[in-house]
Parts: sequence; structure tokens; C-alpha cells
Amino acid sequence: MHEDSRQSAGHDPGRAIRHIFLEEGCADLPYAQEICARAGLPVTIIADRQEPPVTYAPFPANLKAGKEHLLLCKNRGSFFKPCPGTREYRCCDYHVLNIGMGCPMDCVYCILQAYLNNPWLSFFVNTDALFDELDLAFKRTTQFWRIGTGEFTDSLALDHLTALSPRLVHYMRDKSRGVLELKTKSVAINHLADLDHNGRTIIAWSLNAPQIMAREEIRTADLSERLGAARQVAAMGYKLAFHFDPIIYHEGWQEGYSATIKQLFDMVPAEKIAWISLGALRFLPPLRAIALSRFPGSTFFHEEFITGLDNKQRYFRGLRVEMYNHLLAELRRRASPHTCLYFCMESDEIWQECGFGAGKSQSLPDDLDLAFSRCG
Ligand code: SF4
Repeated sequence: MHEDSRQSAGHDPGRAIRHIFLEEGCADLPYAQEICARAGLPVTIIADRQEPPVTYAPFPANLKAGKEHLLLCKNRGSFFKPCPGTREYRCCDYHVLNIGMGCPMDCVYCILQAYLNNPWLSFFVNTDALFDELDLAFKRTTQFWRIGTGEFTDSLALDHLTALSPRLVHYMRDKSRGVLELKTKSVAINHLADLDHNGRTIIAWSLNAPQIMAREEIRTADLSERLGAARQVAAMGYKLAFHFDPIIYHEGWQEGYSATIKQLFDMVPAEKIAWISLGALRFLPPLRAIALSRFPGSTFFHEEFITGLDNKQRYFRGLRVEMYNHLLAELRRRASPHTCLYFCMESDEIWQECGFGAGKSQSLPDDLDLAFSRCG
């Protein structure tokens, strides 16, 4: 287990934050003031677009210290955009809402290590612009929008501080052409209680084999904590989703993933699960060296990989199929018939090799919409 791992707790990963920096241009925003008051941490106001004045080691060692500083700032780009899936693999037509950058948890395989080199986390407080963009999207077309917030961060890891989830849940409650998915490895669910969500928000957890969660997902909640939180939000009427991603090859992987799936269905009502995705480990080549320099004890990057059509490293096809078939067999035995099981970013050939009927990969977006509407 890595230094500062599980014992530092998944209950509130945001508690690692020691200092808040606030852009001058956001200082008068009531939402920014609310976050600062709730955090009770030292706040330094800095000029707009200025970097927080923190001392840090060179990249990538700076990433660990970066989890202690939170910058509240304005998003000067767009908040809402299609998920950047690649053409070569089947994508689920998700849209991402960019609420901030960086995550207080620290997974060895996290792709953000290769994308973000700032020694601070950013959270966007100009949420009026975020909701304006969503309004425009809902007005502009008649399509059904599946929306997630977890592209550059975890959806709930900072929610104890930001309380963004009630605002999003409240916004979505009357959007009959949309669903919001909040995906996390934390158990920061306090702000989800007593909300009029009208069934338009799904709360989702990423899951893994117990050994991977313990060794490679630092400062996250453990399996029992995640599933306990899932059971609580199901009792609040929320629909659920789970993501086995990344599936990692390791000694005892069959038993590990089987144990997680058993515990999942022992603890959580199957009929509340809208969808479950599977995705084997894949990563851009530079991630390997970055992760190994930060976590030299990790061994899973030493397996054999091939370069996929999207230039990401993946396990050989035979191993991917073997792992997927194992997890699918366990899931198919226990899942509700309306739960949509699917692959994240896999080829049509893999779908067929894993027992999905012809055309199943192409109909994924429709199948997800249907699963959402049928889920109890
Ligand atoms: S929880 Fe997600 S975003 Fe956070 S470190 Fe882990 S993989 Fe990265």
C-alpha cells in the first residue's frame, strides 16, 4: 500500500486542502463567498489569471502538494461539450460539464497526471455561465442529453466544500430530456439528502477489485464505504450506476472482481442500477513514466501492452476479452434485466466476442436512454 493511502480516509478527500486562493474577479460572487465560509480555511485573493503563489517541487512530484491548494476561479472556456471519445472505438454519446480541474484523491492510473501539471486544484465559481450554457443546449435541440461532470475531476470529491451537487440536481429536476450522472470514488453524499431530484440524477461509483482499490486508489473510499453510500442514495430515490474502469490485470484478478460484484449485489438493490460499464486499463504512453516516478511500488504498468487505434496502450485483445467475459458472466447472473451493461471505448469486434448481439454496440446511446427510463 502506498504511503498516505487508505488510512487517510475516503470520507472527505477534500480535507487534504489547506489553503484557498480566490481570483479577485470572483471575490464578490456569493457562491465563492459561501464556499470560503464553509471551508473555514485561510483564503488569499490573487489577481485574475495569476498562478497561486505556492512553492513546489518540479513536475511530477508537485502533484501531491497540489492536492492541498484549491483555486476558486472563473472558467474562461466552455463548460459543456461532447465527451472526447475517439472515432475508432464505440462511444456512448456522453456530454461533459466541466466544473473544475484536478482531484484531491490520487489514483496511480489517473490520466489527469499526464494532462494537468498545476500544483493546485481548480474549481469554477462562475456557475451562472454554466447554467446559461445548459439552458442553451436544452433549448437548441430536442435531443436527450446524458451529462456527467467527471472528465477532469471527480464529481463529488469536493462537494463537502462546494455544495455544487444540490444546484445541479435542482437544475436537472424538470429536464425531461436529460439525465445528470455524478460519478465518484468518494462518499461525499451529505448534500444529496432531502433534494427534490425528480429521478433526473444518477449517482455513480467507480469500482474495482479490492486489491486495486486498496493499493492503487489513494485517499478514496473503500468498497464497503462506496456501496454503503450507494445504498443510502438509493433509499433517497436516486438511480445508480457503476463503472468497472479501469479493469486491471493482477494476480488473483478473477477472485477480486468476483468478490466486488458479489458485494455490490449483496449491498445494493439491483433494480435501482441503470447501467454498469466496463473498461480495461488504457493510457497514453507518457502516463506510465509519470505514474511510476510517483508510485514506484506499483507493478501493473509492467504488464505487456499494445498500442491501440487511438494511440493508447491497452492489454492484448485476448486478455481484454478474457477479463470482460469473466466480469460479464458475474454481472449477467445478478443484474436486473433493465440494467444496461456496456463497454467504454471498445471495438465492435470485442462487443461481439463478449456475447453482445450484432448491432448492440451501435445502439448503445439508445440502450442507455432506455435503461434510464426503465430503471426503478
Ligand atoms: S478519483 Fe478519478 S479523478 Fe480522482 S485521482 Fe482517481 S482517477 Fe483521477
